[in-house]
Amino acid sequence: MIRTRLTVTVIAAITCVTTFLSVATASAQTPRRVALVGGMLLTGYEVPPIHHAAVLIEGDKIVAAGPASEIRIPADATVIDTSGRVMLPGLIETHGHLVVLGHGSYDTWFPWINSHGGEATMTRVMEIAAKQLLMAGVTTTVDLGAPLKPILSIRDRINKGAVVGSRMLVSGPWIAHLGGTGGGAMQVGFGGLNVATPEEAARETERLAAAGVDLIKAHSGLTLADYKAIVDTAHKNRIKVYAHVYAEQDVRHALDAGVDVLQHVGSAGTAPPYSKELITDIVNSGRPVVVTAAHRAWLYEDTAAFPERLQDPDLKKAFGPEIYAEVQDSLKNWWTLGYFQRTDREMLFRERGVKQFIESGAVMGMGTDSGTPMNFHSEALWREIKVHVDMGMTPMRAIAAATRVNAQIIGKGRELGSIEPGKIADIIVVNGNPLFDITALSHVEIVMKDGRIYKGEPQSDAKTRGPSSGK
Ligand SMILES: [Zn+2]
Ligand SMILES: [Zn+2]
Repeated sequence: MIRTRLTVTVIAAITCVTTFLSVATASAQTPRRVALVGGMLLTGYEVPPIHHAAVLIEGDKIVAAGPASEIRIPADATVIDTSGRVMLPGLIETHGHLVVLGHGSYDTWFPWINSHGGEATMTRVMEIAAKQLLMAGVTTTVDLGAPLKPILSIRDRINKGAVVGSRMLVSGPWIAHLGGTGGGAMQVGFGGLNVATPEEAARETERLAAAGVDLIKAHSGLTLADYKAIVDTAHKNRIKVYAHVYAEQDVRHALDAGVDVLQHVGSAGTAPPYSKELITDIVNSGRPVVVTAAHRAWLYEDTAAFPERLQDPDLKKAFGPEIYAEVQDSLKNWWTLGYFQRTDREMLFRERGVKQFIESGAVMGMGTDSGTPMNFHSEALWREIKVHVDMGMTPMRAIAAATRVNAQIIGKGRELGSIEPGKIADIIVVNGNPLFDITALSHVEIVMKDGRIYKGEPQSDAKTRGPSSGK
């Protein structure tokens, strides 16, 4: 009883707005408490880490975080020892695709799904992808291109707790200009929509917003008037627009039309660096860029050096035998794939492509195009972060980009992206110090999302903690 009253006081002090609600909750049922104790804490802000820290979670919220010596841990809290490791906010991916799993060719992947179970297999694929992301410490993902109904369905089932996966924000089909993109199997598989006029672009945006998408993806090839129509309609519906843009003219159109997030910019060998004027305008606009740098230009070289990465045993476990065999088959001669046709040129420009933004001071988020050929959901984000660090971004800034800055970019800055009282409890624990070696982010040992542990669960707590761990 005394403890309950104490807790209520603590909650009231931290979040006075919800005092009434907290009292009601506390008297009905004390929320579950978990404490992560002992490890170093990176809060998501660019400040020195807190050593030997503790984070206290009640229900799905963080209620306290700081040096362990200063945090009072209630006697009924489940204590998880994080000593010798590093706690940081759950990672956020601003560019993933659940409908693909790293298969080598859209031309054969989507027909393969159709002839091997169709919609049921598509659902299975998306569930696998969402779980891979979560197990890699990616607690929130923006999906930028998938058929509308299936992607809305998996988003909702994950968010209700029926499916174990990364929390999803989704665009559904992207909007492209008629004849402006590759079309074919890619467009069909990702559910892309073609529009011929700004009026049509506005109509499709309205339809997607009404269906419940979280954001709009505008593909390349659109005119300035198309972008403006999409942005106006999306903003009227209070959703953001992400543009898929490479060429300087496309970036310029998207920027001038008021697109909220510039994706890909400078990562496809389209003769970067961009003009000084464009970079300056991007920086001054404060509009974030997400370079998606690693997925071809670096991944190609990394795979050539270590093709064994394609047979990572974790992939076999995650995919199951049938999908694993199909993906393996598609990657047999991976260097001949159409997807990597221009990689030589991309590699020529890759360093300048990333550095132009790092050195300019642009707002930079992190996103990977995960799911694209050889770009597995299980590792895409730490690889992207590593590229940014290798190109001169400090590890601290790169981690902030993938957590706090990404949360702001996706419009969830109030709820997600940092470890501080009041935020949703999305926390990961990694083995090794990522400030010393950024690839420590590939050693995710504990994943907490919404205050629940999905990986690295202490056995004693297995019955009460909900959805279980494992790969
Ligand atoms: Zn894209
Ligand atoms: Zn993409």
